[in-house]
Amino acid sequence: MRAAVLEEHGEPLSIEDVDAPDPDPKGAVVDVEACGVCRSDWHGWQGDWGWLGLETNPGQILGHEPAGRVAAVGDEVTNVSEGDHVAVPFNLGDGTCHECRRGHSNTCENVMPLGFVEPVQGAFAEQVHVPAADHNLVELPDGVSSVDMAGLGCRFMTSFHALAHRADVSAGDWVSVHGVGGVGLSAVHIADALGANVIAVDLTDEKLEKAQELGAVETVNAGDVDDVPAEVKAIADGGANVSMDALGIETTAQNSVQSLGNRGQHLQVGLTTQDERGMITVPSDAMVMQEIEFIGSLGMPPTRYDEIFRMVATGKLRPADVVSETIGLEDVTDKLEAMTDYETEGIPVIDTFN
Ligand SMILES: [Zn+2]
Ligand SMILES: [Zn+2]
Repeated sequence: MRAAVLEEHGEPLSIEDVDAPDPDPKGAVVDVEACGVCRSDWHGWQGDWGWLGLETNPGQILGHEPAGRVAAVGDEVTNVSEGDHVAVPFNLGDGTCHECRRGHSNTCENVMPLGFVEPVQGAFAEQVHVPAADHNLVELPDGVSSVDMAGLGCRFMTSFHALAHRADVSAGDWVSVHGVGGVGLSAVHIADALGANVIAVDLTDEKLEKAQELGAVETVNAGDVDDVPAEVKAIADGGANVSMDALGIETTAQNSVQSLGNRGQHLQVGLTTQDERGMITVPSDAMVMQEIEFIGSLGMPPTRYDEIFRMVATGKLRPADVVSETIGLEDVTDKLEAMTDYETEGIPVIDTFN
């Protein structure tokens, strides 16, 4: 099968023929019909996240946002059949540990991050192997296409879990979103659908315009103002109720915390880069004085994907609106290179693999 293979960090992916996967007894092989390209792929391509145990090695196939049709299943698979139209989650659980059994497979004790480690080769390829298929694969409802699902990708799932499950967003709340790339744009769209007033913050006017299209009522260009938190507080009646760092650099994390009013909730969704290596300083005295919560949020357990699918089916969420273009496998490197300078807007989705 054709696949885009990592040869060296930061160098063009190699388009080559590799062996197609066979299903292990509990696994399934999925014919990939669409796969999103996201900033997490860029981190994998750069060789980041060694401090998380996720440094990619040469030979790795990246790509963690696939949807497609089941091509083959292992002997012990019972819930999934050949031909099923499925989403493949990006944090694959083993389905058997304490966390998985309690519905938290996004934090599985043996979590397998698709496309980042050798045992779970990713989906920048014609086919992808999914372990523990009964547990991990989610059947797509009618009306949610593979490109829609790739548009949802990790960004909608991550933002939805953060806003709807981890924080207490309610109607009329002010929600500020710092960094409106893929996950940030999704957060804007979801928070709007949940009834919040959303303030989008970024350095790029084009991204802020997109955020307005997706429901932001106010925008702040962080390059045009001296004090981002002060701007957000001026708009948000003294401070946001919930704020998200959707990027994962120290500036956006600090701005997000400092944009909050009393008893505000900060959502840390972005993972950091080589500059921070997972360590950022936060205004802890202000957090004490204002009783601010700092909440980490990771992905979303696939057992709750149906919540988001219902909102897509009724048109409340429109993942296709964040898809900027459909591309071929050979175009992935260009898109990754554009992310280095934050030049991508919206999500490129691969829909041609041969
Ligand atoms: Zn588990
Ligand atoms: Zn992603």
